[in-house]
Amino acid sequence: MTEEIAVVPGDGIGQEVVPAAVRVLEAVDPGFSFVEAEAGDAVAAARGTPLPESTVETVEAADATLFGAAGETAADVILPLREAVGSFANVRPARAYPGVDALRPETDLVFVRENTEGVYAGHESDLGEGVTTLTRVVTESASRRIAEFGFAYAAERGADVTVAHKANVMRTTDGQFLHAVDAVASEQGATYDTELLDAMATKLLLDPSQYDVIVCPNLAGDVLSDLAAGLVGGLGLLPSGNVGAENGLFEPVHGTAPDIAGEGVANPSAAILSAAMLLSHLCHDGEAARVRSAVEAVLEDGPRTPDLGGSATTDAVAGAVIDRL
Ligand code: ATP
Ligand code: MG
Repeated sequence: MTEEIAVVPGDGIGQEVVPAAVRVLEAVDPGFSFVEAEAGDAVAAARGTPLPESTVETVEAADATLFGAAGETAADVILPLREAVGSFANVRPARAYPGVDALRPETDLVFVRENTEGVYAGHESDLGEGVTTLTRVVTESASRRIAEFGFAYAAERGADVTVAHKANVMRTTDGQFLHAVDAVASEQGATYDTELLDAMATKLLLDPSQYDVIVCPNLAGDVLSDLAAGLVGGLGLLPSGNVGAENGLFEPVHGTAPDIAGEGVANPSAAILSAAMLLSHLCHDGEAARVRSAVEAVLEDGPRTPDLGGSATTDAVAGAVIDRL
């Protein structure tokens, strides 16, 4: 059965790195069919909306989506698209590669971040007279769901789980989060460690090798995964997935990179590694592994794009990855 992949390049270097990643997917040939759809600043200018209904329908109907980036309209595009795939987990691997300068070359970890609630649930109020408030939402069901996903993700990889929290201060909300994680762990016979998220920030910086899979609430995951991105050297390398029960949307962590857009020199590695995550998500594990090792080989031996000190184009790097498949 042919699986359908929605391809939404968006703006800026999304237009360059997503087609490169699609070329790699075509070369590894898991039997996908691709449906391209528009989103972002350019379509907003042309059609009056950054996210046409037809794009949402294409993403909903597809088995998975490969997304690039959106510029000014990013929030109007990516939040509804994450919702369209029913995403509840944001998966962000941060891994250093031989051949790429990294602050902490031993880094190899994955954030599994709850991405539907917490302080990003949107309940802010202005009470007047200079007083504003924010309500943090943590539900048992969402906490259980991210824990189940995180433990399953770790088990597949034979990885240890660390749960980041701040339940010593946010006793009710992170207390519930931890309680739900613990209940899931005992049901599944899984083990895990916990870490206060502020302490984890320091430990990540000093010795990231102590972590494998980090399961965490929304804001903590947002901040700590950016910290980890800084350990591995280069936005052009970081893939991510927004995973739901039936569907998923995969995208490089970087944005539209307006400073280099249109020059054909963006590093396609993050987009290609996002495509590898898409392959794993659809259980094409063999193909995913081939893509990952091809990217690794090219990062080590070149050719490299200018962000990694080389002078190769996006297409040349994608072509080299395809040659290594
Ligand atoms: P946006 O608002 O869309 O996020 P930005 O200006 O924040 O745009 P990013 O895409 O977040 O830009 O990139 C930040 C920096 O990292 C830029 O200097 C950009 O050129 C560089 N960069 C990001 N992604 C890549 C890539 N794939 N290849 C090379 N350089 C990149
Ligand atoms: Mg940015």
